[in-house]
Amino acid sequence: MIFFIITSIYIGCHLSSSKGFKAMGETALEIGADTFQFFTRNPRGSKAKDIDPQDAAELRKLLAEHHFAPLIAHAPYTLNPASADPKTREFALQTMQDDLVRMEYLPGNLYNFHPGSHVGQGVEKGTDLIISLLNEILTKDQTTTVLLETMAGKGSEIGRSFDELKRILDGVKLNNKMGVCLDTCHVHDAGYSLATLDGTLEEFDKQIGLTRLKAVHINESLNPRGAHKDRHAVIGGGQIGTDTLTRVINHPALKHLPFCLETPNDLAGYAKEIKLLRSLYRD
Ligand code: FE
Ligand code: FE
Ligand code: ZN
Repeated sequence: MIFFIITSIYIGCHLSSSKGFKAMGETALEIGADTFQFFTRNPRGSKAKDIDPQDAAELRKLLAEHHFAPLIAHAPYTLNPASADPKTREFALQTMQDDLVRMEYLPGNLYNFHPGSHVGQGVEKGTDLIISLLNEILTKDQTTTVLLETMAGKGSEIGRSFDELKRILDGVKLNNKMGVCLDTCHVHDAGYSLATLDGTLEEFDKQIGLTRLKAVHINESLNPRGAHKDRHAVIGGGQIGTDTLTRVINHPALKHLPFCLETPNDLAGYAKEIKLLRSLYRD
């Protein structure tokens, strides 16, 4: 008997959730994706639409039938769990808590958020605030893994270094529910070298542990390494380089993870980049 072991990259992109869950799954299939990311609500952070359980069930069926990798739900990027304003922090807490309840309609997936900006209070104070928010919202029964995203370090963003992420993880009691999403544009802008990927991943492993790494945002950056700007570019149109991004998707420590594009593209552009990255992936 002959066994064919088919290994392929798990790749997708950010999709609009305006037409519901199942529509996102169908769009993903149309553009050749087998994972995707979506905002849990309007990225500006308004009230979320009620979940249609039937729609969620239909997406679950589609994901299972087509062997999708875990999906990434993204919290509104306007939330700031490290804010100096208690009302802003409370809003972040309520929103994220509500998102985690809703995520149970799609069990076993990922929920990614930007740790926050300390707005002049200092990294230590900001870190404590992020930890206390996480300690309030995580539950031992949740099936969702909550991801801290590596940040570019623009303004007073926390999470610009692996050490800053480690300090958050160290303070969270239920940190078996936590992981990290590595954004290639952000780590490049934060100053890490993706050209010397082994060294950068070694440092990640030393600080955080590679088993914490659950997803990769595969993006180009418009700016040079260390620019702290966070301006995404299309594949082939930035300063990281396609050779380096090819090494990222093929690295033995990363190649099993879901890769998600957040490049400035329409659906046709995403389909092209997904096809390109599939062609650059070695089984
Ligand atoms: Fe993000
Ligand atoms: Fe990202
Ligand atoms: Zn970004």
